[in-house]
Amino acid sequence: MSGYVEEIMQTVKARNEDQPEFHQAVKEVLDSLEPVLKKHDKYREAGILERIVEPERQIVFRVPWVDDQGKTRVNRGFRVQFNSALGPYKGGLRFHPSVYLGIIKFLGFEQIFKNALTSRPIGGGKGGSDFDPKGKSDGEIMRFCQSFMSELYRHISETTDVPAGDIGVGGREIGYLFGQYRKLANAYESGVLTGKGLDWGGSLVRTEATGYGLVYLVQEMLKDRENTSIEGKDVVISGSGNVAIYATEKVQELGGNVVALSDSSGYIYDPEGIKLDLVKEIKEVRRGRIKEYLDEVPSAEYTPDSFDIWSIKCDIALPCATQNELDGDSAKGLIKNGVIAVGEGANMPSTPEAMDAFLENDILFAPAKAANAGGVATSALEMTQNAMWDAWDFETVDQKLKEIMIDIYHNANDTAKEYGKEGNLVAGANIAGFIKVADAMLAQGVI
Ligand code: NDP
Repeated sequence: MSGYVEEIMQTVKARNEDQPEFHQAVKEVLDSLEPVLKKHDKYREAGILERIVEPERQIVFRVPWVDDQGKTRVNRGFRVQFNSALGPYKGGLRFHPSVYLGIIKFLGFEQIFKNALTSRPIGGGKGGSDFDPKGKSDGEIMRFCQSFMSELYRHISETTDVPAGDIGVGGREIGYLFGQYRKLANAYESGVLTGKGLDWGGSLVRTEATGYGLVYLVQEMLKDRENTSIEGKDVVISGSGNVAIYATEKVQELGGNVVALSDSSGYIYDPEGIKLDLVKEIKEVRRGRIKEYLDEVPSAEYTPDSFDIWSIKCDIALPCATQNELDGDSAKGLIKNGVIAVGEGANMPSTPEAMDAFLENDILFAPAKAANAGGVATSALEMTQNAMWDAWDFETVDQKLKEIMIDIYHNANDTAKEYGKEGNLVAGANIAGFIKVADAMLAQGVI
């Protein structure tokens, strides 16, 4: 790390104490930028790094709601509007007990560069709450979402900030949030949230987009770098939520064999290939646990340790659950077992040690900012359809998504080469995303 970058990192740590995930996300980007800063003085002269690590606005608010027993509960809500140089802030909402300001800031920071990579006019933001949706009734979820939106609505609009889903926020929650926004704003602003239902402004393919997009990008990377494909490969996917389910669906469609999935309690291993209809029934309909898979497929195995999933031998690993779920030891185990490619569906799922191990061992590694950008890219396509008062068919959106993912791969790959980091998509994605945002900030002055 150069002295200048080290200085910025120290300021970030001092200003944002006790936020290790945010420090980790900033450090990864700053480390990648050394060759850019060496080549172009203009970014340093305009204080771009100093400005880009500081959110434009951070909103923290009380979310009171009443549970089914009539008891008043209080959670904390967050929205971090990180950077709007390229367009309205855009990024999901996460409802999970682990949420605090540091998690939202790490996600919001990454979102800036990811959104830039999609080539759509969207800035970066993120939000959420420490609310735990697990075990809550529909009524409790609705009352929580209404209370959350009662504060959030004054900070968002189609042209200001456009939230979407993330962990714990799916179609049901977006519905309740949109309903409350519509009531408070007294306007039918379809483009204020994405991930909406298909009958009221949602886009086909948005549900599938992050998982499908991940697999499109990994397929392109395999073709470009190893002249091979997903067909016939064994694939381990962590998680069993939105991203994991639709990554599984696309891998299976392309002839790959998904042998394992997990949730936060443990993982299932089914060497015959995961029965996806059953997983969808368990997770999307019953909202149950992945362990229930064994009730109908007794030949499968269950291990009550989700992070041990990486000990399974596979050709391709797709971490699609949460941050820091794949550490250095897990990475070494995967490498020893012959993994050829890793694609990050979740945000920051690999620890820095894991990432270093993959890069040092020439494993094809697609980092989250590039690999999971399909979700937000399709959200941007949803916004376009909303602005046009139109709805495209499935094939049209899917084709656009595929083209965007292929473009992102080549942009990151070519940028890595240009800056002397051939084959390193972490550096390529960070640099390509940064330059786009930094140039817009330069053009728009010190604000
Ligand atoms: P979901 O809530 O639909 O699913 C999350 C999955 O990950 C569940 O299986 C959950 O298990 C598991 N999980 C969550 N937290 C933990 C934990 N601490 N330890 C182990 N497992 C855990 O979320 P998504 O699928 O939408 O999101 C998954 C990841 O993908 C996140 O990192 C998210 O930021 C990222 N992402 C999502 C996008 C989207 O469009 N949805 C877009 C881009 C990135 P359990 O049910 O037991 O909690």
